[in-house]
Amino acid sequence: MSVDAYGPSSQTLTFLDTEEADLIGADTQGSEFDFTDFTLPSQSQTQASQLDVGQTHSPQVQVNGDIGKNGLDADVAATTQTLRELQFEEDEEEAYYTKDLPEFACKYCGIHDPSCVVMCNVCKKWFCNGRGNTSGSHIINHLVRAKHKEVTLHKDGPLGETVLECYSCGVRNVFVLGFIPAKADSVVVLLCRQPCAAQNSLKDMNWDQEQWKPLIADRCFLSWLVKLPSEQEQLRARQISAQQINKLEELWKDNVDATFQDLEKPGVDEEPQQVLLRYEDGYQYQNIFGPLVKLEADYDKKLKESQTQDNIEVRWDVGLNKKTISYFTLAKTDGDMKLMHGDELRLRYLGEMHKPWSGVGHVIKIPDNFGEEVGIELKNNCGAPTECTSNFVLDFIWKSTSFDRQLALKKFAVDDTSVSGYIYHRLLGHEVEEVLFRCHLPKHFSAPNLPDLNRSQVYAVKHALQRPLSLIQGPPGTGKTVTSATIVYQLVKQTGGGPVLVCAPSNIAVDQLTEKIHRTGLKVVRLCAKSREAIDSPVSFLALHNQIRSIDRSVECFLLILWLVA
Ligand SMILES: [Zn+2]
Ligand SMILES: [Zn+2]
Ligand SMILES: [Zn+2]
Repeated sequence: MSVDAYGPSSQTLTFLDTEEADLIGADTQGSEFDFTDFTLPSQSQTQASQLDVGQTHSPQVQVNGDIGKNGLDADVAATTQTLRELQFEEDEEEAYYTKDLPEFACKYCGIHDPSCVVMCNVCKKWFCNGRGNTSGSHIINHLVRAKHKEVTLHKDGPLGETVLECYSCGVRNVFVLGFIPAKADSVVVLLCRQPCAAQNSLKDMNWDQEQWKPLIADRCFLSWLVKLPSEQEQLRARQISAQQINKLEELWKDNVDATFQDLEKPGVDEEPQQVLLRYEDGYQYQNIFGPLVKLEADYDKKLKESQTQDNIEVRWDVGLNKKTISYFTLAKTDGDMKLMHGDELRLRYLGEMHKPWSGVGHVIKIPDNFGEEVGIELKNNCGAPTECTSNFVLDFIWKSTSFDRQLALKKFAVDDTSVSGYIYHRLLGHEVEEVLFRCHLPKHFSAPNLPDLNRSQVYAVKHALQRPLSLIQGPPGTGKTVTSATIVYQLVKQTGGGPVLVCAPSNIAVDQLTEKIHRTGLKVVRLCAKSREAIDSPVSFLALHNQIRSIDRSVECFLLILWLVA
């Protein structure tokens, strides 16, 4: 069979002779994966549903010539028979993935042999264990991309309808599940790697923990769990590329019922332009960065808004400031989202003990060493149904502030005096003559009460002091904060005490910088959003609103005037 016959999509595939491929299971598993006769007990199965797989066992599981001559012949015969059954007319092949497919057809490629498909427990979609044109099988591709982890086998598959889970603790994350073939009897047990497969009590049950093997090898489920579709079947199926899989997964985030056909609709294919090293002008810069910023904002918003949780149990309290606080525990999510101090949440009451109510508060406690609870302080105390404790719903509120700030991007595009000529051209990647400040460099670059700088940190400080714009990069833990604080210290010394404005992309980063700069002995004022004023941090005492509270009236006015002038 020539590879060319398969067309361009075959370029990424390595083809085996198909008959041989079937015999070796189209996989590279060693003989330790041989199970010709076993049952698969699991917590979700009753005794009666434990299956003797021997009867429905396919030739794919036998590998490495372990089978005897007669067995081999029988397998060849069986395979040839299967191949014959697979001879379809041309138009039938066409129809394979356009006709109404059963519900359990692979959502990527349409393969619907019950022994080759697995259902994702989270989204209830089915996927096959074939690779098609991708490096991993379709089901693994889906689980990884969608961050789903639990699956159920098809009722007509080799093992019957089975939820894959740890026999001992019931954990269902397939990425930590493996199996141990029990020594004496023909039983294979699914166990999670930690802690169950590592338990000493296994020995008592005659299970050898050394024999533990993951259920997923080479980015496919082991073929005795879920069969690999034959080469023929994979070729007959819809050819879906990794890129199309990506897009389909993206579409499902908006519309769970999206199909392969939706990929062809206009608009789906619009890829944002890639960033460049050099830009013509601010206008082009904004044309490229604008859509990227919007994509990120849209994603962020969608993520937050999709996190609504119901059936929340609430515990009420009143803070020292007399504000109503509600505590609750959130369900664990696998999402990318992290809850932070100051985030806004909306609590709604849906029960019948009180009229409908909703209130907004900001997070004052996140899950930590002192407990899993989340606490929010309500913005206003009115009408909160503090006599009720259940039937609450929690919404995550998306704030556009950080993205609204990108308005500066527009200004940058239309007004080339919005920043200095030097910065304008540097940002656009143009050749700019180097500007060096004539300044008195200090003898010692390190700042008081901060760790001594190493050579590259000294270089960074020196570089920054002499130039209008510097970019300092480094992996975590290389002392960027100390270097930054030292630069601020040296800048203040150079300007004879003049004010230095310091900003950072997150509140935590600003807090850390504030703390370090304060240590050098400089006077620091930490500014924060009104909504964060009530939030405690190690540098609360440096926050403007707290500094004002602690000084007397006249000085307060003086300070405010200073700030207005600055
Ligand atoms: Zn899923
Ligand atoms: Zn598939
Ligand atoms: Zn376990």
